Amino acid sequence: MLEILKDLENLSEKLNLNFNKDWFGYVWVTKEQEILTVYLSDCRDSIYEKYGHEISERVNNLENFYNSKDYKNLIKICGGQVISKKSFAGYREFVSDFKNKEIKNILLDFCDRIDKKIGKLEKVAVLTETDIETEKENLLNGILSHEWIHILLEQNNLHTKNWKYNEGLVTYIDYSMRNKLDELESYEKEMNSDFGKEYFRNAILFRNLVKNVFDKEKIEKIKDFLKLFS
Ligand SMILES: [Zn+2]
Repeated sequence: MLEILKDLENLSEKLNLNFNKDWFGYVWVTKEQEILTVYLSDCRDSIYEKYGHEISERVNNLENFYNSKDYKNLIKICGGQVISKKSFAGYREFVSDFKNKEIKNILLDFCDRIDKKIGKLEKVAVLTETDIETEKENLLNGILSHEWIHILLEQNNLHTKNWKYNEGLVTYIDYSMRNKLDELESYEKEMNSDFGKEYFRNAILFRNLVKNVFDKEKIEKIKDFLKLFS
């Protein structure tokens, strides 16, 4: 974890980004909590879009989703996301109205966990608890780094309303930090969902956009591009 922070600090220096180690924190949540909160967010993965595009539609279909095969499969996977204090502010009231007690308790416990950790953080990464060593390794290296890059970019106002570009930019930064920019194409091929492929497709777009640009000027070039979509 400290290593990720060090990497992010070096990267920020290289790219002329603002960096403050106090921006970064994380919370462990259950896989059920992760999947239900992603379902109730604006996540555009088709597996969730099936149950509604608007959050209100997804709330109406919440029990269908909870009892579905999709849900049972999704909660086998480890993952993470970023929760912002701003969007979390009304969350407890939002879930308090849910009729299904089981779902409500899962989500109220999620609120307790966030409340305990968020403190002065504006945004916090959440990671799914696991006893499996390989998953833990992936969470504390790969996934946490991805989520913290989201936080770093948002704190630097480098994001758009278009999730595809946000994920693409995070993926580009992540793979450039790992010196794996030449492997984006093969990672794209490996993804078995269109949603997953989008991350790499757009990372390739950013890689090519700044290919011959000096490090300190890369972010300006990216900012100009993002302006077209904000
Ligand atoms: Zn992401």
